[in-house]
This record gives sequence, structure tokens and C-alpha cells, in this order.
Amino acid sequence: MKKYLKISILIFSLFTIFFFVQNKYNKKTSLVFQENNSKKYVALTFDDGPHPKYTDMLLDGLKERNVKATFFVIGKNAQNNYNVLKRMIDEGHIIGNHTYSHKNLFLLKEKQILKEIDQTNQIIEAVSLKPVKYFRPSYGNYNAKIINLAQMEVVLWNVDSLDWKIRNSNRITRKVVSKVQNGSIILMHDIYKTSVKAAFKIIDELQKEGYEFVTIDKLLETSVEE
Ligand SMILES: [Zn+2]
Repeated sequence: MKKYLKISILIFSLFTIFFFVQNKYNKKTSLVFQENNSKKYVALTFDDGPHPKYTDMLLDGLKERNVKATFFVIGKNAQNNYNVLKRMIDEGHIIGNHTYSHKNLFLLKEKQILKEIDQTNQIIEAVSLKPVKYFRPSYGNYNAKIINLAQMEVVLWNVDSLDWKIRNSNRITRKVVSKVQNGSIILMHDIYKTSVKAAFKIIDELQKEGYEFVTIDKLLETSVEE
């Protein structure tokens, strides 16, 4: 009788282990399946704002579409449009540093570079209450010295909308949509009406194609995982 009980327990345990392993394995495969098949991520980034009129217009449309974006603000503009900066943060967008006055950092001394970066971080952090993580140097100009001074993650782009030059929302949209791939970082500027209109068209078209718009932190996290 004792022996019989022992065998029963052994068989029961083996079954439990078998089901547990089986279940775990199935869960894992279905997760991989989902990741590979359905999700395409893209990040919208807006430089040079906040603008008192067009950034607000942009925030309205992003809210309507439930899209979060990343804003690389110019410190001086953030200071002058404090309410817009606060709205960006309150509505869940990510704020990065785009220098205080948009100077070419290659032409500045170390002390001046540090001032451009620190002043901007202070303005953002006074509202967000957390350290600014991302830095996009003006004109995309950076080198080892600038990275070392900034002590932040430098984020550039891989799809340039050229919205500052094109100024036609349909043409900007076509340019961006034709270039976007999974993991793209789109560069736009929230200081032109045509850019804001184009951003809405880009979102509407790419969402139909199955893209999900995410902030930079989420996009970088996803690419590391893959
Ligand atoms: Zn810029």
C-alpha cells in the first residue's frame, strides 16, 4: 500500500512538471509569434519648439489620436512658452534637450556648451521633476567632447521630413511615409503649421499600415530587446 502511494505521488508530480513545462513553452512561443508578426514601431520627434500656436495645435491632434511623441525643445522657447511645455509633460510626451539657443556647438567653448545644455535641463526639470535623459544637439552637430560634456543619451533621427524646407503638408507626408520602416525615428519641427498638418496625415496613414507610435524611450527599449 505504501509503495503504491509512493508511485502515485511520483506519477502525479511528473504530470504536474510536464504540464508546467508545456504551458510555459506555449506561452513563450505565442509571445514571440506576436512580437514578430503584428508590431511595427515608429517614433515622431519634434524639434525647435515649443511654439505658442502650432505646438498647441499639434498637442490637440496627438491627444485625439492617442499618440505620444518626443519633443526636443529649445530652452529659450520652453522658457517663453512655459504653459505649452507643461502641457506636453502633463499629456505624457517625452521632453529632450535641444540646447538653449540653437547655436552650432562646434563653434562654442566648453563653458558655453555646458551652459547651453544645463540651462535647458533646468527649465525642463523644473516642470517634469525628473532628469532629462535625451539630448539632440542643434543641427545634429556633436563629437566626443560634446557627448562627454552633456552626459546624456544623444538621439538623432533616420527619417528626415525636411519639413522646414518643403512647407507643404501633402509633400511632407509622402516623403515620410515612403521612407518609414519598423523602428524609424522621424524628424519634424513643431514650429510650422504645414508640419503639424503633415504629422496628422502621417499618423493616420501609418496607423492604417499597422504602425504604433511610441516615444523615444520605448522605441530604444524595443530595439535593444530585438
Ligand atoms: Zn533644431
